[in-house]
Amino acid sequence: ATTSKYLTGDNAAINDFIDRFDVFLFDCDGVLWSGDHLFEGIVETLDFLRSKGKKVVFVTNNSTKSRQDYQKKLASLGIPSEIEEIFASAYSSAIYISRILKLPAGKNKVFVLGESGIESELAAEGVPFLGGTDPNLRRDITQDDFNQLADGSALDPEVGCVLAGLDFHVNYLKLSTAYQYLARGAEFLATNTDSTFPTAHGFFPGAGSVSVPLINMTGQQPTALGKPSQAMMDSIEGKFQLDRARTCMVGDRLNTDIQFGIEGGLGGTLAVLTGVCKKKDWEAEDAKFVPAYYADKLSDLRAAKP
Ligand code: PLP
Ligand code: CA
Repeated sequence: ATTSKYLTGDNAAINDFIDRFDVFLFDCDGVLWSGDHLFEGIVETLDFLRSKGKKVVFVTNNSTKSRQDYQKKLASLGIPSEIEEIFASAYSSAIYISRILKLPAGKNKVFVLGESGIESELAAEGVPFLGGTDPNLRRDITQDDFNQLADGSALDPEVGCVLAGLDFHVNYLKLSTAYQYLARGAEFLATNTDSTFPTAHGFFPGAGSVSVPLINMTGQQPTALGKPSQAMMDSIEGKFQLDRARTCMVGDRLNTDIQFGIEGGLGGTLAVLTGVCKKKDWEAEDAKFVPAYYADKLSDLRAAKP
């Protein structure tokens, strides 16, 4: 494994780091905040980078929220943002479906396992969907459901894709419905593959753990659209026309953020120690993804003076 450069105290090293990049892609949870708790000095650090002419993009795997929801969350924490600066996995999934997958007419509906953030982004892209927050699926499965799922009469023949994100109401009826669509040849997509996500009370099952039963049932792997998927990187690049060599990914997780930056061929990756990963994780002998830089916390970048 290669080593990671520690950014701390030394203004010259921090200035050199900042000067290397025009664009900073920020993971959100674990970098800017934890749950609803904004880390100290974040607003000032983002202002500082923007005042130096840096482009800032927020890139999150949280699939439960739309970009509008994220903009509200950022604003509630005192961080101004433009909708266009936000890349969340629900949005990334919606644009992948509408602009890359391009489902044929008559097979263009999406069955959603997930929350309203996914529905809003699909609707904004003009993609028809079902499932999601439909209250009729938030119940126990019945004998009629078994019969009508098996013979297909409970299924919409126009569904050509199953999109699995974090669904706080996942149940046997929804999994059975998704399975029947997949068994009939629907495309299998996942917003992201995070096994867990951190909360103020510890780790809880993430979106990746919602798709695992479907992987087990079908033997298929989904196309995943969040970090580290390069489908997300390609759409960010397409949107901002960014120069990858002058772009840095900042994150707290090696197998999402840092992998995303390395495999995307970005000029740099910065791990901060305010979230999931610890220094020992990339110093381990079998570590696959080593950040080019690391800092104890994002606000340490602000120590740099022009
Ligand atoms: N998925 C869910 C449901 C989350 O709530 C979070 C964090 O809040 C994440 C994923 C990880 O988000 P990020 O990529 O911003 O760390
Ligand atoms: Ca994170």
